[in-house]
Order: sequence, then structure tokens, then C-alpha cells
Amino acid sequence: MTFDLIVRGGEVVDGTGKEPVAADVAINGDRIVAVGQLADAEAGRVIDASGMVVAPGFIDVHNHSDGWLLKEPNFKCKTLQGFSTEVLMADGISYAPVDQSNWREWIHYLRPLNGLSLSDYDGWETLDDYMQRLDRHTAQNTATHVPYANVRALVNGFGSRPIDDSQAVRIRKLIEREMDAGAVGLSTGLDYIAQNFSTTDELVEACLPVAERGGFYVTHVRYKKTLLPAMEEAFEIGRRAKIPVHISHLKIHDPPSHEEVFAAIERAEAEGLEVTFDVYPYQSGSTMLNYILPYEIWEDGPLAATAKMADPVVGRRVMDAVNAYRRDLDQLRLAWVQGHDRRDQVGMTLDQIVDQSGKSAADTLLDLLIEENLGVLCVVDEGDDALVEPMLQHPRSMLGTDGIYQPGGHVHPRVFGSSGRFLGELVREKKLMSLAEAVHKMTGLPAWRFGLTGRGEIKADNYADLVVFDPLTIEGPASYDDPCQYTRGVKHLLVNGQSVVSDGDAVELKESCPGRFLKYRSG
Ligand SMILES: [Zn+2]
Repeated sequence: MTFDLIVRGGEVVDGTGKEPVAADVAINGDRIVAVGQLADAEAGRVIDASGMVVAPGFIDVHNHSDGWLLKEPNFKCKTLQGFSTEVLMADGISYAPVDQSNWREWIHYLRPLNGLSLSDYDGWETLDDYMQRLDRHTAQNTATHVPYANVRALVNGFGSRPIDDSQAVRIRKLIEREMDAGAVGLSTGLDYIAQNFSTTDELVEACLPVAERGGFYVTHVRYKKTLLPAMEEAFEIGRRAKIPVHISHLKIHDPPSHEEVFAAIERAEAEGLEVTFDVYPYQSGSTMLNYILPYEIWEDGPLAATAKMADPVVGRRVMDAVNAYRRDLDQLRLAWVQGHDRRDQVGMTLDQIVDQSGKSAADTLLDLLIEENLGVLCVVDEGDDALVEPMLQHPRSMLGTDGIYQPGGHVHPRVFGSSGRFLGELVREKKLMSLAEAVHKMTGLPAWRFGLTGRGEIKADNYADLVVFDPLTIEGPASYDDPCQYTRGVKHLLVNGQSVVSDGDAVELKESCPGRFLKYRSG
């Protein structure tokens, strides 16, 4: 028998959580066609996987790659980690849906998190418009949420005005349209613009059309408030809308302890709710510095925000918010700035920048945000990385990098190093779990939860998304001090049968890109 490709001699970790089995994997076109001892079979191409693990391509369920994928088709920081699929439009904020009156607001607001500039806009409005621009134009597959703030802003702007009945109907119609285009569910980021004004009742309403279509609710809960009540709100939404709940980048700061958080999840499950969550394998966070601003700044949209901050009355209230911020400034490190003037400060902690300025902390931060037109990204020291370990070990958790990429930035190491650190330092060295369990958290489990039919498991008839890595050397050397280091040890990555990483290097993709827009529960 002759196949297009055989991955020969590896240990197959199939994504279900089952222990490794020595087997060859045969591929024709975009599909796996046989798994087993295929010594007698011939193939047009052979990948030698002896000494290697062969696993399903990894699935990153939470990231901020939406814009970068339009600009960097083979998104090396991720493909060299073995990620074959990116689930986009997390935290309720993204580039679609938009309309002709508000797309500039979103591109401006998202710049510290994501890759697009105003000149990149070419007219998309719906989720499907945007995803079609990625379909077969990226190395990786993409799937997407419906980002709630985008929907809410189309109907109600960025302000605090409550949603009335006719607006609720429009929100429902928009969510129906985007779910029918193939989204996996609704994402929210309740600390971020527009949606921070959402009430629990409003979110229950918004989840109804998602539940009707078998989708689920994915939420960055109100972390800025208190974790347990924020989780309880998500569970209440799940119970009332009869919809599974997935919590984004769940972490503890102790208090509450991981036992308390897990007990809350168990109580919700005992009441019949389906709960999952994602974790990245580091404790520290990363977000836009403008996250600390009072919400009133955003009332008239992101483009109007900088001018408001320069107003002395508003500026005073901004300073109060900065002063009330619960972290010390030496815990915040400047990861990226939009302009050129402060590039030499990237990598410094904010207290170092305050010292340099000779002004008060609040004045310095206000100056920084105004000068950079709000385009400032930070990495936030949130304590010992060991705090995430029980979160990673929990049976309902899966990996999501929450990666934020900025070339030239001093970004969080998670965008370069998540899978390497997880499989190397945490699984191989610290033995947090078996390799098969760890792979399941990046493959079979997310494929099930995010409805990626025919992916996440190595078996005949599934799509040929495969990663070949060295289990003895895989590592994520990216660190807080030196974050832009690629994960090492991924030798090959196939997406729909096509190589996007070969012999440890990203393949340059010109005409033909294998990545597809994956629609929810549709093969
Ligand atoms: Zn988030």
C-alpha cells in the first residue's frame, strides 16, 4: 500500500489521555488513514519520528492572535510550540463584528493586545467576513468565539446606558448570525470595555441563542472584583441560560485557595452545570495598562478617551483610580509601547519609570498613557509560578496560552513558551501529571469542548493535524527576563496534512496555507 506520508517509528500519544503506543501514522491528503505497524507500507514522504512523541496538533483555546494571523501567516511563536489551531476572539473583544461607524474604535483600542493598524482595515464587518480572511491564509486552523463587547457596541455604543428591550432583540439577532457562521460560543471579558457595563440578566439573555445552538459561554469573569462571587455570576448565567460555562485563564492568588475555587466548581457541577476552564502555565499576568482606568473614560469610545484624560477634572479621577490600584508599581513591567519616544523604557518596571520622571506615580502613569495614546502593554507580577500547578492538574482544565505578541516588546513569556514549559519543566521535570494527560489537555479535551470535529485525536479518518516533538528535550526557555525565546523540541507540525514546521524550523508559506476556519461541531 502507498500513502502520501508516513510518520514512522514514534510513540503515539493519541490525545484521549491513553498511554503512548509505538505506532506509525499514515496520511493521505488532509486525513489520517491508518495508525499501527506499517513497516511494509510505502509513502511519498516519510517523517522519521524515532525517539519522538507523535501527538495531535495542539489547540490554543485562549489567545490574542486575531490580528497577528492576518499579518504573519506562519505565526512562529505559536507553530514552534506545536499549536495547529487557535481559538480566536477571546475576552469579548476583537475585530469583528464591527460596522463602518466603529471599526476604528476597535483597531485603536486593541492595538496593545493585537496586531492591526488602521491601514490594515479592508472593509470586513461580520465575524464570517473576518474569518474568511484567515481561511487558507494561515498556517494554523482558526476557530472563533462571538466577542460580546463587539456585539454590544454595535447596538449600544461603549457607554453605560442599560440595554432596552429592542436592543436586546438586536443583540440576539447579531449573536444568532455569528453563531450560525460557525462560532463556538459567546466570549466575555467583564473587566473590559462595553461589557463591563453588562448586567447578569443581560448576559443570560445573550446566552439564550447560544444555548439554543448547543454552544457555550466562555468568560473572563469580573476578576477586578472578587474571584468567588465573579465565578458565581458565571455559574448563575450558566444555570439560567442552561448553557455550559468555560472560565478563561482561571488563577488563584490565595486567598481564595485553589481548594475553595475547586469546591465552587464542584458545587456548580453538582447542580448539573458543565464547567471547564483554561490556564496558562505561569502565574504572572499581562494586559493593557489602560485596564486600570475608571470605566467612565470609555463611555464615548476608545478614540475619545485620551482627550478626556487630559481634562483636569477627569484626570483627577483617573489619578484616584491609579492610586487605588491594588498592585505596587514594581510589580508592573512595561512590555510594549505604541510610540517611539519611550522604547528605551520597555522592560523597566513602572516604579523605575516613576523614579526616572521625578513626578508622582499617578502623574507619571497619566503622562505615559496620554503620550502613548493608551497604547501600553504591561506584564504584571502576580507571585510564585507554582500557584498555577494545581490549576493545571485539575481534570477540567485545559491549556490556553493567553499569548500576547508584540515584536520588539518585552512581552509575557507565555506567547513563546507555554507548551514547552508545560511539557518540559512541569510535566517531565516536576511530574505534575503524565505526558498523556498533559497532551489530552492540549488536544482531545479542548477539541471536545470547543467542538472541533475530527481533531484532537489521532485515529483514522481524523484530520492530519500532528505534532512530532522530543519528549526528553522539549522546553520553553522564554522567561520573564528574556521572554522572546522560541520553544525548543518541536520537530514537525502538520496542519491538514501539510508541513508548517519541518526539522524544527517554521516553513515559509507562500501561496498555499493549510489553515482552515473551523466551524463549531462541523467536520
Ligand atoms: Zn482575559
